[in-house]
Amino acid sequence: MSEKYYDVTIFIITFLVLISISQVASASAEYPKLLDVPWDHSPITVFIDDVYVPPHYSPTYRTQVESALLYWEDGGNGKLDFTPYFEIVDTDDADIRIMWVENIEEVIGTKEGVAGFWSPYVVNGVYLRGDIVLEVGNYQGYAWRQYGDLNMFLVAKHELGHALGLAHSNDRKDIMYPTYEERDNVNPLLLSATRPILLVFGVVSLAVIGFLLVSWRRCKRKREQLEMELFGESEHL
Ligand SMILES: [Zn+2]
Repeated sequence: MSEKYYDVTIFIITFLVLISISQVASASAEYPKLLDVPWDHSPITVFIDDVYVPPHYSPTYRTQVESALLYWEDGGNGKLDFTPYFEIVDTDDADIRIMWVENIEEVIGTKEGVAGFWSPYVVNGVYLRGDIVLEVGNYQGYAWRQYGDLNMFLVAKHELGHALGLAHSNDRKDIMYPTYEERDNVNPLLLSATRPILLVFGVVSLAVIGFLLVSWRRCKRKREQLEMELFGESEHL
């Protein structure tokens, strides 16, 4: 095996070790929670109010909420310590009530940029019940724009995450990243803006580590050669 080949192998092994270290580090990081055990019973009943709806409500929004419920029943973002079961009911004395308004800022007076919110009633450290309020559109400049189904699906998933005890994540790819409450058309593919920066940082550190390892091996080889010239080959036999 040529010496150059050996250097490349060291480089690749270093790369693989670094990747696995970063994977372990991110997996063991503590995930922010509002409540560890948010509900003291199962199933969690859900009332979806698609009768008293604002003018720009679309019937497809209810379907998005139902898909969002299935998303969390199927494991969601993998950060829950329990598997939630939902039961959709017809009465509004449900655990979670989901309702739509035309525009959240106008109706409730929250800060701008909020497309949905979770308002719980907490008793003895668990949710007794709570409301999820979703808006159907927002102003972009002076023009009002209705939300598409994908946006509704993402905001519903995000708010249900809160209703299941999760707080906000720092990970831009995670559904609990606060961007999902913003009014802009949310596209998860556009959210990974920090990724190229991290990639450049990773490549640079790898190059430095690789360079150090290769020069260390060159030094060692030089010394061995010097030793050979000085003391002959006898000790290598
Ligand atoms: Zn949120």
